[in-house]
Amino acid sequence: MPAASRNTRDRLLATGRYIIAAVSVVAAAGISLLLQEWGVHVFLFAFYAAVVGAAWIGIGPGILAVVLSVLAVQYFFTPPEWSFEVNPEDVPFTGTFIICAIMSLAWSWQRKRTERALQQARDTLDETVQQRTAELVEANAALKIEIVERQAAEEELRRSETLLAQGQKLSHTASWTLQPATGEMRWSAELFDIFETDRGGVFPSFELFRDKVHPDDRVRFDAAVAMAVEGSTNFSCEVRIVLDGGAIRHVHALGEVRADPMREKEVIGTVMDLTDRKRTEQALHDAQAELARTLRLATMAELTASIAHEINQPLAAIVANASACVRFLARGPAALGNAREAADCIVSDGTRAGEVITRIRALLSKQGPRQVAVDINGIIGDVLELLRATLERQRIAIHTDLAASLPPVMGDAVQLQQVLVNLVTNAVEAMSGITGRPRVVTIRSGMDRSSIDQPSIDQPSIKSAGAVLVTVEDTGAGLDPQEIDRIFDSFYTTKPEGIGVGLSISRSIIEAHGGQLSASPALPCGARFSFALPVVKALPEKDRVSAPAVPEQVQELAGSAER
Ligand code: ADP
Repeated sequence: MPAASRNTRDRLLATGRYIIAAVSVVAAAGISLLLQEWGVHVFLFAFYAAVVGAAWIGIGPGILAVVLSVLAVQYFFTPPEWSFEVNPEDVPFTGTFIICAIMSLAWSWQRKRTERALQQARDTLDETVQQRTAELVEANAALKIEIVERQAAEEELRRSETLLAQGQKLSHTASWTLQPATGEMRWSAELFDIFETDRGGVFPSFELFRDKVHPDDRVRFDAAVAMAVEGSTNFSCEVRIVLDGGAIRHVHALGEVRADPMREKEVIGTVMDLTDRKRTEQALHDAQAELARTLRLATMAELTASIAHEINQPLAAIVANASACVRFLARGPAALGNAREAADCIVSDGTRAGEVITRIRALLSKQGPRQVAVDINGIIGDVLELLRATLERQRIAIHTDLAASLPPVMGDAVQLQQVLVNLVTNAVEAMSGITGRPRVVTIRSGMDRSSIDQPSIDQPSIKSAGAVLVTVEDTGAGLDPQEIDRIFDSFYTTKPEGIGVGLSISRSIIEAHGGQLSASPALPCGARFSFALPVVKALPEKDRVSAPAVPEQVQELAGSAER
């Protein structure tokens, strides 16, 4: 309601109250006069009633009622009647009436105030009760929501615990905590499963955990944990676990030390069961070895013609020289000089045949990789000798451009021969369908100081002094630029009878030697394969590193002729 209307209403109400007061007094006077006519003199009570009633509706109307009552009593009921004249002997009466009227006013007003205060207190109480009730209702609702939320959170917690447990089960990864001071541990359910231990039967402890570790791995495990706890660092340790039945499991334990100055040190960690992975790796390794064996047979098959030719030539020469020798000796007198000459030829042809066999044996040798100073030009020469017959048969010209006095590279001669055999064989195959242009394989060697000038990561103690670059180029079908990256993938082949592992194995070998093998299209036609090998300054024997980790299948590939 607007303020103006409220003011008007308040004013009207106030005026109404004064009018009621005046009307009460008039009514009291009227009633008293009427009763007086009938001989009943009770006017004082009527006026008191009017004053009490008026005072009830407000102090202003009450005072007005007192004033009007005094005037009415003076005018109508105090001699001389119907006059305001005051008789001295009536003053006590009038005074008493005024005092009584004022007391009635005060009493009524006081009662009214008390009642109003009481009402206000009641209202306040009601309001407080209502407020409290509302608050309680609100708190109750909040509590209900909280309970629902807590139930949801508990449900969520249960679900995530289940998920975690399932995740741990699926990933074979368990979690644990360790109090290094007491050796107390907490194990997740998965750890009990990995250890194949009954959950209710044991109290997890570091001692128990350690007892499960294979005795041969225990020292390493203890050292890793002790070092982590002392240095407040993380640890990572792969160990074997011996189960109660004696079965072995491979696990990877990881730990993180939590060093809080306010609390005891705590180690939180995981145990990942690698047994299945190891089994899969072993199966993969076996499959790779099998594949390498197949490749070796394929290489052998390709080399058969060369080998036969290489050995046939000296054998034929030996037979011819032996026949000549016999003839020279059968002459009378025997032509000893000629016979000696023929015998010398037999010896040198025999030696040549022996060298061929030695080269083949070296190529197919099953010996592990050996790091020695290798003359790369010598290896190129050996490979060309091996493949000479094949190249001649395919009418492929060989062009070599080999830098003189190249420094040796540190490597395994057999593996590097294998790479070159792969590259040259691929070049031969790429040119098999080519007509109308010369079929040429060009092999170059030289220094390439730009490509490798950092120590190898695999061989950190070997200091590099530039690199030797070897390039095998052909005039064959060439490489599709979009396929260049894929040709090094295992099993990528475009040949109907190809296996697609030659280049991937070659790249592994070169990378294991700290080098790089790359391919690019040759101009105007054909393909170019290059590899750079770091030249190594010889180090004192004590600083020598062991042979680079060459993939197993490569060792298999270089399998022995003895098999
Ligand atoms: P495979 O010889 O069994 O196919 P490789 O790994 O040796 O396996 O070679 C993979 C593929 O790379 C070949 O199938 C061929 O498509 C391509 N490739 C290799 N060398 C050459 C080359 N000199 N010229 C053209 N393509 C080549």
